[in-house]
Amino acid sequence: MADSSQPTPEPAQAPLPTAPSLSELRLPINQLAKVNAALAGALGEAGIGGQELNGLFAAGVKATCVACGLGLTGTELGELALAASEDHDRRLSPRLEKLRLGECPRNGCESRFYQVVLTAPGRFDRGWVLGRTQQLIAGKREPLLSMRPSLSPETRRTTRRLAGIALATFFVAFVAYRLVFFRSQPIPFVQPKSPFTVEPTSIDPSQR
Ligand SMILES: [Zn+2]
Repeated sequence: MADSSQPTPEPAQAPLPTAPSLSELRLPINQLAKVNAALAGALGEAGIGGQELNGLFAAGVKATCVACGLGLTGTELGELALAASEDHDRRLSPRLEKLRLGECPRNGCESRFYQVVLTAPGRFDRGWVLGRTQQLIAGKREPLLSMRPSLSPETRRTTRRLAGIALATFFVAFVAYRLVFFRSQPIPFVQPKSPFTVEPTSIDPSQR
């Protein structure tokens, strides 16, 4: 009974894509708008989704200027991503507007690079997540695919159950159809035309 306190093991996950382990992710400022989607993609692959992912973005992600140390929150990174995606008339704060143009908002700071840091504790490999984020920003694969709000086990189970029900329904309908089909035949396996019918042309005229 020594191991009874151990939590139930997680369902086996697909092997993670190979990515370098980074202690820090340094990016040009004009790439910051891509961090949100890429990081969400990497975390999704690491098995982080839903509430946990939201919480992480709210409090566990930070980007800081490599020169002056000015900090951005995960929420601000999200706003940058939104502004880059479509709504150009979306009003950004002056500070985010400056970042959107690729510059550090701090007066007099000439830096063009920010460093993304994961500050929240989590049950994932931070180095891998940062490395994978870098890959996704570089366009290794469309990160939006993995951003689907974790249609996790429950949804998948429901889908499978529905598919089973549909299959069973189809089978019952098929059997019912076959039964009705055979019952509607006058007599099974008898051709409508009698085999004893004689073709008039086949009769020898001399025998008439
Ligand atoms: Zn700066």
